[in-house]
Amino acid sequence: MQPGHNLKFWTPGGSSTPLLTAEHIDTAMDFEGVAAAGSILGTTAMQIFSDQDCPVYNTWRWLEFYHHESCGKCTPCREGNYWMVRTYRRILAGHGTVADLDTLQDTADNIFGRSFCGLGDGAATPVVSTLKWFRDDYLGYIEGRTAPRLSEKSLVGAH
Ligand code: SF4
Repeated sequence: MQPGHNLKFWTPGGSSTPLLTAEHIDTAMDFEGVAAAGSILGTTAMQIFSDQDCPVYNTWRWLEFYHHESCGKCTPCREGNYWMVRTYRRILAGHGTVADLDTLQDTADNIFGRSFCGLGDGAATPVVSTLKWFRDDYLGYIEGRTAPRLSEKSLVGAH
C-alpha cells in the first residue's frame, strides 16, 4: 500500500468474487487457497482497497454497473438490482435503516443462484460479502457516524 494507507479489503478475482479483508493477506493465490478463505479466483483481476476506501460506496458503484448491464431477461436480476441500487443510494444519502440491511441480504440471496447468467450472481456477491465483513461501515451511514456520500438529489428521479 502507499504510505499512510492500510489494506482494508480486496477481491481475488474482480467485483463478482467474495471480498476478503486484511486478515486474509496471507491467502495462497491458487484455487484451493482462495476457496479456503471463502472466495474464488474468478477472473483473477485483483482489486485492492485501502482504509481510505469505503466498502459500502464501492459496492454501490459496482451495483450501478450490474444494474445498468442487466438485460432484464430474468426477474431476480432485473428487479433485484433495481431495488438494491435504490437501497444503496438511500443508505449513502443518510436515509438508510437497519432494516435495509436485512432487505439487501434477502434480495441478494434471492438473486444468487436464481439468474440465468453470471451477472446476477456477480451482483449479489459483493453485497453479501460486504454485509458479512463490513456491517459496521453500513451502520456508520445509518447511525450518522459517517457523512453521507450521496446528495438528496440522487434519490429523486433515480431509475
Ligand atoms: S442474470 Fe443475465 S440473463 Fe438474467 S437478467 Fe441478468 S443479465 Fe440478463
